[in-house]
Amino acid sequence: MKPVYTTTDLASRELLDQGASQPARLAVLGKPIKHSASPGMHQAALDHAGLDMRFIRLEVEPGEIKETLNKMQELGFVGCNITVPHKLEAIDACDQLTEDAQAIGAINTILFDNGSIIGHNTDAPGLARAIHEEFGVDLGDLRVMVLGTGGGAGRAIATQCARLGCDQIWLVNRTVEKAQSLAEELQNYYRQSDHLAGPGDALYAMTPDDPGIEEAAGHADLIINATPLGMQRMDPLPLSGSCIQPHHMVYDAIYTPPVTALLAAANAAGARGANGLSMLLHQGALAFDFWFPGQANTTVMKQGLTGQK
Ligand code: NAP
Repeated sequence: MKPVYTTTDLASRELLDQGASQPARLAVLGKPIKHSASPGMHQAALDHAGLDMRFIRLEVEPGEIKETLNKMQELGFVGCNITVPHKLEAIDACDQLTEDAQAIGAINTILFDNGSIIGHNTDAPGLARAIHEEFGVDLGDLRVMVLGTGGGAGRAIATQCARLGCDQIWLVNRTVEKAQSLAEELQNYYRQSDHLAGPGDALYAMTPDDPGIEEAAGHADLIINATPLGMQRMDPLPLSGSCIQPHHMVYDAIYTPPVTALLAAANAAGARGANGLSMLLHQGALAFDFWFPGQANTTVMKQGLTGQK
């Protein structure tokens, strides 16, 4: 049983399961992958459901996803999670995509189904569940500012906000062109809307240092950080602290450290804040239900994630 497996370990079932008491049937694929918290969460759910299998970390090089998935299918894997940097590459390796995966344009979950590779995305619906759990409100009822809409997580979150019909979404990104092109894509969700005059009333693209950012943030109910800023102690804030007001809910997709500088700023401003652990949990529970319908237990999975009973 290794903390991290590589594609070389997929040479045979015997090699893969050497020294382990249960066969590997699920995995999380990424690079680097050794820090992934997914195995603890999913192994707890597998054990609770009485499913005799193990969940492993598999390090895969960019460009090797298709070949790796084919090999896993041959070895009888049930499915896998896909993480950085493979969420876009994995799309091309799929035979089918679910509606969520198509809408978001990235996948984080795969099911091997009778010779077919099905790609799905649970990151965005997982975030919606997390917001409800943390703040007791529906994401679709909020005006939302998303920071980092040039990345995979930010795109997925902003797309989910548009799909749920959020009245206003501010797409904030250092490279503003990426936010602008996402705003164009998301306009389709507003074209048929009868309660807005037009897409221009709902979607705004800007940089974090735009002179209008403070006023825009003032109109938002929820601010979501989907940049990596906050993972390192010396990182600057992803948004000026002066933008945060007491009425805000602030959600940081980062969960290590548990209190980022942004969450500390939210606390200092009298706003409510929460970190990305709940998003990780709910995307995991939705993935588990995709592999084993109706069998995810979020209480058990949370214990597996935090190591607490
Ligand atoms: P990514 O693809 O690398 O996204 C990077 C985004 O952050 C881009 O919009 C980028 O802007 C912006 N950015 C990067 N460095 C920046 C800097 N120095 N200043 C300003 N903006 C910067 O990463 P990702 O996969 O989307 O993940 C983003 C964050 O979400 C990570 O912290 C990740 O851990 C977290 N996440 C959490 C969960 C969860 O379950 N809780 C799930 C997924 C991701 P440009 O476009 O200008 O480069």
